[in-house]
Amino acid sequence: MDHHRGGWIEIIAGGMFSGKSEELIRRLRRAVIARQRVQVFKPLLDDRFATDEVVSRDERRLKAIAVATSAELLARIEIGVQVVGIDEVQFFDAGVVEVCMQLADAGIRVIAAGLDQDYMRRPFGPMPALLAVAEEVSKMHAVCVRCRGAAHYSQRVSGGNAQVEVGDSSYEARCRHCFEAYHAAPEDTPAVQLTIPRPAVGNA
Ligand SMILES: [Zn+2]
Repeated sequence: MDHHRGGWIEIIAGGMFSGKSEELIRRLRRAVIARQRVQVFKPLLDDRFATDEVVSRDERRLKAIAVATSAELLARIEIGVQVVGIDEVQFFDAGVVEVCMQLADAGIRVIAAGLDQDYMRRPFGPMPALLAVAEEVSKMHAVCVRCRGAAHYSQRVSGGNAQVEVGDSSYEARCRHCFEAYHAAPEDTPAVQLTIPRPAVGNA
C-alpha cells in the first residue's frame, strides 16, 4: 500500500480477535524496514499489557506512546515523522478524526486500527467518521466460535452493560447468524467495569 503520494489514512477495522493489532504491527514494521520515521500511539485506557507497547494476541509488539486525548497525540508528534500508527483508535475522543486529517494533510501516512462496532453492534466512537474519511479501509474478520464462519461481531458473554468492558474473557467472536443480543442482570451494571485478565496464549 505504498502507492499513494503524500499523506493518507488507512483504517484497519473489525471485531475482537480479528487480528487488527497484528495487521497494524505488520504494516508499521514494513515502514520501519523501509527506514521511514514511525511513531505509534495508543489510548491510555488500554492497559491490558505493558503501557508503552502495542501487543498483538500472537505476542508481536511495538513501542507505543500512551496518550489520554487526541490533542495530546497531536502534541507529541515529532518533526520529520512519516508514518503514524494508532491502536484501539475507537477509544479516542471525536477529535481524533480531525487529528488524523491534519496529519494526512501534512503528508503523513496514518494507519489506525480499531473496533468498528461495540457489543451491541453499535458503531464505536469515532470509527464511523474515520471509515468515511479514510483512503483505505480493511475489514478484518475473526472465526465464529459457534459455526467457524467469518465473525464480524464481538459477542459479550459476561459482565455488565457498559460499552467498555475490558477483558478478552468477556467476549466471543460471532458471525451475524450466531450473534445474540446480550442483557446483563441489572445488579451487574456499573458505569465502567474493568476486568483485566491476561488472555490465554493461542487465543488469536
Ligand atoms: Zn457463526
